[in-house]
Amino acid sequence: MTAVHPRRSTAGAVPALLVLLGLLAGLTGCGGAAHKPARPAADPAVQQLLDRRAAAVRQHDQQAFLAGVDPHATRFLAAQRQVFGNLAQVPLADWSYRLVRTDAFPLPPMAGTGGTRRTAAEVQLRYRLSGYDAEPVVSTSYLTLTQRAGHWYVAADDDGASAGHRSAVQLWDQGKVTAVHGTHSLVLGLGDTKTLRGYAADADRAVPQVQHAWGTAGWPGTVVIEAPRTLDQLGALLAADPDDYKGIAAVTTGELGGSAQAPADRVIVNPAAFGELSAFGRQAVLTHETTHVATRLATTAHTPLWLSEGFADWVAYRESGRTAPEIAPELAQDVTAGHIPAALPTAADFRPTSTDLAQAYEGGWLASRLVADEWSPDQLTALYRAAGTGATLDSVLRTHLHLSLTDFTARWRTYVQQELG
Ligand SMILES: [Zn+2]
Repeated sequence: MTAVHPRRSTAGAVPALLVLLGLLAGLTGCGGAAHKPARPAADPAVQQLLDRRAAAVRQHDQQAFLAGVDPHATRFLAAQRQVFGNLAQVPLADWSYRLVRTDAFPLPPMAGTGGTRRTAAEVQLRYRLSGYDAEPVVSTSYLTLTQRAGHWYVAADDDGASAGHRSAVQLWDQGKVTAVHGTHSLVLGLGDTKTLRGYAADADRAVPQVQHAWGTAGWPGTVVIEAPRTLDQLGALLAADPDDYKGIAAVTTGELGGSAQAPADRVIVNPAAFGELSAFGRQAVLTHETTHVATRLATTAHTPLWLSEGFADWVAYRESGRTAPEIAPELAQDVTAGHIPAALPTAADFRPTSTDLAQAYEGGWLASRLVADEWSPDQLTALYRAAGTGATLDSVLRTHLHLSLTDFTARWRTYVQQELG
């Protein structure tokens, strides 16, 4: 399971949302556990081709890289030359391919090449960014391989797409990647360098804020930001409909309930929506997303969204000097009109299509703020860690706050009225 924490861009406060997307496996995959084992009949020469290709990337050897591409696939060859160049600035610690299986998808008929042997390969790419990724990012490609005069070549990476075997898209498949190295951040982007430097500056301010709130243990204290240039590029990176992300300023990808071996997290910025935010809003977004990165190992399917999203907003806003109605304008409007939510926000309230999405984030933020202010920030982080362990929320609240879920909800409703009324 892969978690995405998208954050909306709106005026004023910046509600966010979390979606669970199994289909994101292509971006930060789950190790291919569901795949069939490689067929024993697979030619070992195929894995050797992939090994040479990986070594060429690691060694920045363009000639060796292109030597593994089918010379008859002229368009693909030109595209591969481009992709290799696009990777030049990406600081790689590791890059390897694993053949998962051959005969992975039906190949389209090929005209005029009688006798050429072909196979459709499912291939796993694993890579680590130097200085940032303790564990690799894993993604799946569906490659057409051809054999000519006894040699295997990569001939295409999109023949499986129409049958649903779509190769995962990475930033470098979309254009030349510029790398900006911050103090606590690495920004990989397709846009202009000045914009990318701005992201790095925001991320560099976010990391100490998050460390102050959450601590330094259990995460490296760094963040990797990917910045495509367009909404369509963002959609391709997420293997999602770009329209769903129009109003989303940034998302965090990663694995919920991950272990220390979970794939590396990425914060992916939607440049258009992010660019519409004020300086305050941009900082809040990156602090919120960086909080998700920091808390990843403590966040599981048991963690309620009002807590994971509310905590991220609490970290983002705690030193903002803004009032509660300034940070929670939609919920404040409801309260002024006499509507106080009956219960803490549910998972459904955090769906992108939820009509009360802003109120869900704002309610979650106030729940975290209540615990931090009336108990302590340490109690809030302890509550967060306990909520992910699998004990019921009611028992976690009783242990840490000496309140039942019912009593905590009542306390929160009073607090919402008091802060926003
Ligand atoms: Zn979030």
